[in-house]
Amino acid sequence: MILTQEQEMIRDSLRDFAQERLAPFAAEWDRHHTFPADALRELGELGALGMVVPEQWGGAGMDYMSLVLVIEEIAAGDGATSTIVSVQNSLACGITMKYGSDEQKETWLKPLARGEMLGCFCLTEPHTGSDAAAITTRADRDGDFFVLNGVKQFITTGKYAQVAIVFAVTDKAAGKKGISCFLVPTETPGLHRRPNRGKNGPARVGHRADSLRELPRFGRVPARHGR
Ligand SMILES: Cc1cc2nc3c(=O)[nH]c(=O)nc-3n(C[C@H](O)[C@H](O)[C@H](O)COP(=O)(O)OP(=O)(O)OC[C@H]3O[C@@H](n4cnc5c(N)ncnc54)[C@H](O)[C@@H]3O)c2cc1C
Repeated sequence: MILTQEQEMIRDSLRDFAQERLAPFAAEWDRHHTFPADALRELGELGALGMVVPEQWGGAGMDYMSLVLVIEEIAAGDGATSTIVSVQNSLACGITMKYGSDEQKETWLKPLARGEMLGCFCLTEPHTGSDAAAITTRADRDGDFFVLNGVKQFITTGKYAQVAIVFAVTDKAAGKKGISCFLVPTETPGLHRRPNRGKNGPARVGHRADSLRELPRFGRVPARHGR
């Protein structure tokens, strides 16, 4: 594959960053379950947390190939950081960019893309992973709010994210078409976070710094439509 000059420059500068600021600390972060908060702040300043988000919405306005190169270089420095960065770019920013209203983009996408805020993506549940249509977390309408109830697990950045993108069933009869997606501020009363059981243990060496969490309950969130 022939890269453009700009893509090569981005790859080289992230390679330097990852080898200097991630690789020397990766084993220690993993051993002590240390979330790489400082490195993420620096990556945000470099534009690596909202790479394909247009500049108008706080992102770096780059292409997907550049994002792939950046994730690859970060992964060579620290696997956990690459997972966090990938979730932030592709899921937290990606979903909000594609489906959020302008108001939601203003509130959430801009700070996510600038790296001022971290997001997490909540699909997996204790009884289902690949089969996303089998989720049972419910979202029931209550006036101007939805009440979300359910359990999510293996949530990257679950401990530190300020906003959670949560998938929940709004119309059980409609099957997989009855699943909706909610932007839930993690300070919402009723939302709980606890350490993940299982994959956060020694079996997940290399991923113990990414703050995987279980989110066992959610709470009431305002009903505002995206696009
Ligand atoms: C480090 C890490 C970070 C994660 N972060 C997040 C996160 O941020 N948010 C989130 O929601 N989830 C997250 N997950 C969960 C992840 O998305 C799930 O683990 C994944 O969807 C697989 O689900 P599962 O583990 O239940 O495995 P299963 O769905 O039980 O699959 C087990 C195996 O069976 C195979 N399989 C399953 N169904 C079929 C089929 N129909 N045909 C053939 N083969 C099949 C799968 O390929 C896999 O090899 C994370 C997981 C890890 C390890």
